[in-house]
Amino acid sequence: MTREFSRILYAKPSITEKEIAYVLDAAKNGWGPECNHYIERFEKEFASFLGVKSAHSTSSATGAMHLGLAALGVGPGDEVILADTNWVATVAPVVHLGATPRFVDILQDTWCIDPEAVSRAITPRTRAIIATHLYGNLCDMDALEKIAAKRDLFLIEDAAEALGSRWADGRNAGSRGVFSLFSFHGTKTATTGEGGMLVSNDEALMDKARMLNNHGRISGDKKQFWAHEIGYKFKMGNLQAALGCAQLERLGELVGRRRSIFKYYHAALHDIAAMNPVPANGDEYCYWMPTVVFPEDVNLRSEDILEAFRQNNIDGRPFFQPLSLQAHFQTANNPVAYSLPKRAVNLPAYHDMTEADQDRVINILRALHKGAA
Ligand SMILES: *Cc1c(COP(=O)(O)O)cnc(C)c1O
Repeated sequence: MTREFSRILYAKPSITEKEIAYVLDAAKNGWGPECNHYIERFEKEFASFLGVKSAHSTSSATGAMHLGLAALGVGPGDEVILADTNWVATVAPVVHLGATPRFVDILQDTWCIDPEAVSRAITPRTRAIIATHLYGNLCDMDALEKIAAKRDLFLIEDAAEALGSRWADGRNAGSRGVFSLFSFHGTKTATTGEGGMLVSNDEALMDKARMLNNHGRISGDKKQFWAHEIGYKFKMGNLQAALGCAQLERLGELVGRRRSIFKYYHAALHDIAAMNPVPANGDEYCYWMPTVVFPEDVNLRSEDILEAFRQNNIDGRPFFQPLSLQAHFQTANNPVAYSLPKRAVNLPAYHDMTEADQDRVINILRALHKGAA
């Protein structure tokens, strides 16, 4: 097969000798008294990078969300407001804990939760708001913080896709929620294969989450094998944490590469499609998933784009469908969330992608647009 027809994946981690060396070290030496070495290091270095007091590693971001909500005591009778446009992982723990999700619409430009829609959705039962920084685009946290403070609600950040995004004042995505979570799934900017991180500045909340994630055992308790309540086991292993430590040391490089991939797509495509915003106020996005949204008056559907990609050996990703359309839920009146997936796709983006690879994607999109306009 010629290079021209080689497959372009939509995501692929960047694994160097550093990652391999750390994991080998963990496999050889990370046992007995050293069994938590990389876990403790990963948590400490992650908290320090992010600028939060405490970080607790987990088996997935889904697990981190479950622990955080459980530690807050969210449960039956409570309502949790979140954007209709979301990965199902964000809502599954809400449902498992017996609370009721309320799906609201997203903004046209950032594709993140609309603060005014949040205000309208608040009831006496509302306990929490989840702000998902979709594809690395930042939510309007200033507005959401005001609403949460005024109505005494928990504000949670799902920063699974936003590692490396930051506000102009230097604060990182995931440093502002009552708790926040990150994912190290293989498709994310930094990976441990599977894995997640729960972070917070509230030490008491983090102690509660750690206790829950230890099957309800209290650390340092004199009684061994003693559960104070029925908890969970969503832990990260030392081998995965070793991979995470290496990825974290390379985070500047990993995020920098995502930004340059986005910049290249943006220069070539922004005249024919809306893309992730490029903020003018000094906020910096990580551009985890470069995305194009074609205007409603251009006759170009997502499935046609993805089919053209398939025929050219390119993996694209459909834009998230509204959760309210899917299993378990009732449809909602969220016109932006319902409209975008019809005319949007995520473009392939991974560390070792070349400009020639990107050109193949760009040429297909420009040709499709020309045919449809
Ligand atoms: C990836 C992702 C998650 C879940 O991550 P896992 O580590 O796979 O559990 C949650 N929320 C969002 C927005 C995600 O993109």
